[in-house]
Amino acid sequence: MPGKSTVTVHTDRETHPSRAVAPPIYQTAAFSAEDATTFAAGAVEPRGQDFYTRFGNPNHAQVAAVVAELEGTEGAMVTASGMAAITTALLALVSSGDHVIGQKSTYGGTASVLLNLLPRLGVSTTLVDQTDPDEFAKAVTSRTRLILVETPSNPLLQITDLRAVADLAHAHGALTLADNTFATPLNQRPADFGIDVVWHSATKYLNGHSDVSAGVLAGPAKILDRIWDTSLLTGATLGPIDAWLLLRGIRTLPLRVPRHNDNGLALAEALSSHPTVTRVHYPGLATHPQHHLAADQMNGFGGVLSIEFSGGYEMADAFLSRLRYPRRSASLGGVESLAVHPASMWAGMLTDDQITDTVPAGLVRLAAGTEDTADLVADALAAADALHD
Ligand SMILES: *Cc1c(COP(=O)(O)O)cnc(C)c1O
Repeated sequence: MPGKSTVTVHTDRETHPSRAVAPPIYQTAAFSAEDATTFAAGAVEPRGQDFYTRFGNPNHAQVAAVVAELEGTEGAMVTASGMAAITTALLALVSSGDHVIGQKSTYGGTASVLLNLLPRLGVSTTLVDQTDPDEFAKAVTSRTRLILVETPSNPLLQITDLRAVADLAHAHGALTLADNTFATPLNQRPADFGIDVVWHSATKYLNGHSDVSAGVLAGPAKILDRIWDTSLLTGATLGPIDAWLLLRGIRTLPLRVPRHNDNGLALAEALSSHPTVTRVHYPGLATHPQHHLAADQMNGFGGVLSIEFSGGYEMADAFLSRLRYPRRSASLGGVESLAVHPASMWAGMLTDDQITDTVPAGLVRLAAGTEDTADLVADALAAADALHD
């Protein structure tokens, strides 16, 4: 088995039998067939690549081949965004009357799907404290079809015991889906712990350059085929150029992630002893309540940390304004550092109760890019010092 940097550079080669060193962009909505038999076969081939781009495209297949290899899954498929990946998967895998378990601390869009969209479709949901595996066990009912996990979680960097949740789900005949956006397959491979389907906002680390919106699902072919079938109806198709850019981004994922990991840890360590900071949430810190679990299931702790300031909403906001390198933005996972104040960002997506339950008002989420570590640390400390004065 070749190493990860070799995988990201070479795995897609068989999907584009071309003499071009860089894969061609198949900027076409449709493909032609030579005869009726080939045409009919193309129409029903799950995740094929030469029938109609909504059904599949060689640029999609290239990304899928690389991500499946990185995640250690049988297959993968791409969607137009991370949210397209999760909503398509849910529409494929659950029906009215079913029950889904998710986490209290989770990405805002995922929380809204669990709290608003699924209940509207007759699917009941329970959100649990992910730090306690017993909470998942207590939430299981005879109707539970799916357990959705996200670890580390956005924005509190809480850890979910992947093996415990996978074992629990399988004992009850339910499937598990894990959002692996924050960790990336370099830092964590949920399928190794028994998770069925791994999904990503590929907009973040996988692409890594803040210039593409995309999603990826990776898992067993049988489950992906069901999701692909539904994706033909939801139609959230990734454009061929965006798939091509995503592959180009993934090529350097194994080079970028170690720097993100170094920068995340250095910032977490530097800020945790600052007098304006009440708490730093970062699974790589020995003081993180779940550090041991994180170390067991992760190879690195990622570039995202969140910082709670003693002066609440105003101080968090002032810190963001004083940072020189990280810009105020909703995204993360790119080469440039970005920072956000989740309490204000999610105000439009969730109700006040839903926000205050999971997001402290004085919390800043900092996503370290790949800049020089010393520059990011000096910048963050200077911004925090200015608050203290
Ligand atoms: C951004 C994000 C998503 C949503 O992905 P989009 O590509 O923006 O649709 C889902 N999960 C996590 C953890 C994210 O950070």
